[in-house]
Amino acid sequence: MFTVGIIGRPNVGKSTLFNRLAGKRIAIVDDMPGVTRDRLEYIAEWEGKKFKIVDTCGYDLREELLKKEMIKQFYASLDEADFFVLLVDAKEGLHPLDEMVCNILREREKKFIVVANKVDNEKLQSFVADFYQLGVEEIIPISATHGKNVDILLDKIIENYVEDEEVTDFIDSIKVVVVGRPNVGKSSLINSWLGDERLIVTPIPGTTRDSVDTYFEYNSKKYTLIDTAGIRKKSVMFKDKIEKYGFYRSYDAIRRADIAVGLIDATEGVTERDVKVIADAYEAGRPVVLAINKWDAINKDEKVGKKFKEEIAEKFKFLNNPPVIFISALTRKNIFKIFDAVDNLYAEYSKRIQTSKLNKLLEHVQMLHQPPVVKNRRVKFYYMTQVDIKPPHFVIFVNYPDSVHFSYKRFIVNQLRENFGFKGVPLIVSYRKRG
Ligand code: GDP
Ligand code: GDP
Repeated sequence: MFTVGIIGRPNVGKSTLFNRLAGKRIAIVDDMPGVTRDRLEYIAEWEGKKFKIVDTCGYDLREELLKKEMIKQFYASLDEADFFVLLVDAKEGLHPLDEMVCNILREREKKFIVVANKVDNEKLQSFVADFYQLGVEEIIPISATHGKNVDILLDKIIENYVEDEEVTDFIDSIKVVVVGRPNVGKSSLINSWLGDERLIVTPIPGTTRDSVDTYFEYNSKKYTLIDTAGIRKKSVMFKDKIEKYGFYRSYDAIRRADIAVGLIDATEGVTERDVKVIADAYEAGRPVVLAINKWDAINKDEKVGKKFKEEIAEKFKFLNNPPVIFISALTRKNIFKIFDAVDNLYAEYSKRIQTSKLNKLLEHVQMLHQPPVVKNRRVKFYYMTQVDIKPPHFVIFVNYPDSVHFSYKRFIVNQLRENFGFKGVPLIVSYRKRG
């Protein structure tokens, strides 16, 4: 995706500008925690065009940059953006590091614009002239704190925008991650999907960062498969390492996904490790499609299927009626049925319930079962509202939030499910005080 990097010395106002861009002027379409912890990135929209803005420590121009090894890293980080905003401080004037970076950008044939920040009023405007020493034709004076000229800057970004239709199309696609313990067949499944001509896989131009995910279309619907590189490119040499550190990777992948496909090896039955890996995804707020793999290798009679279903129902009770699909990554049997299940789960996952309906439910709940008196306090519920989706999050306003008993909370969650569905979807219910 077209990516804009904000680059500049410490304290020139990079974070302020970033927040201004992300917070007010443009819609935040999605936030994607990046590969490194210190990276902030947002997908933004201006004039109907979507692009990514990144603000990284890599673009923080400290004196250490002059050291050789730092310079290398800095060069590498330059490949991650298509366009740069070189932010300078009008109050401080031109600094040797500004000059140096300007030259590097030029040498590397990177497109950039010099933006002079902290031009809060007309008087400060004259300070801007100093920066023409950089040999640039245009300098945009802005005030990140006041939002002055930020729209001009955005227009400038859009002037340099390079269309990248295919990928931007996938921003709103359903994001799917495959989870499971080693050897259940994750890479086999992904390769079977991607090798099938029913699937139109979009080649991803540009950075290595993006190619971690795979974009594809199935049945005219768009999906993003998260972290495919991590699972696919698994050489024997690195296998141990991947498994050792796999936990951290998959945590990040799960957070970026909407729906998890929990893979289980039918030949081994349901192990504790399977339950643990899948519970992690669900506890992170992601619904799970259970896919029982290697079904081809099972000597099937009715009894085996029935026994398996019972075992799954028992061990994965906490998933609240997940879809279960018996597949073979090897023969490709049923592998695309997974996407039908993903679609259904996603619909439930994104569902919003009207406040009026929730309040009716709350009344009904209290009639069915009066909340118990705790420490001489009569718990009273005032109202309930849904504050978020993906996962659905409800807030109940109550006089004594700490006095609502665990079993009563469970009763409310069950009532929510009974009345509104949310099959297979994790729900969050919080209690807030109102006097
Ligand atoms: P960063 O280190 O480049 O990310 O800089 P920050 O965004 O943290 O800003 C450094 C300081 O400059 C903060 O005290 C900001 O409040 C201030 N600052 C940022 N933008 C402006 C501006 O447009 N005008 C003025 N007067 N101060 C600003
Ligand atoms: P991962 O570690 O979860 O990525 O698992 P792999 O995809 O590497 O698969 C582990 C082993 O299971 C390999 O030897 C695969 O050939 C085998 N395997 C994967 N899927 C199937 C399947 O559907 N049926 C059978 N019989 N074997 C499979």
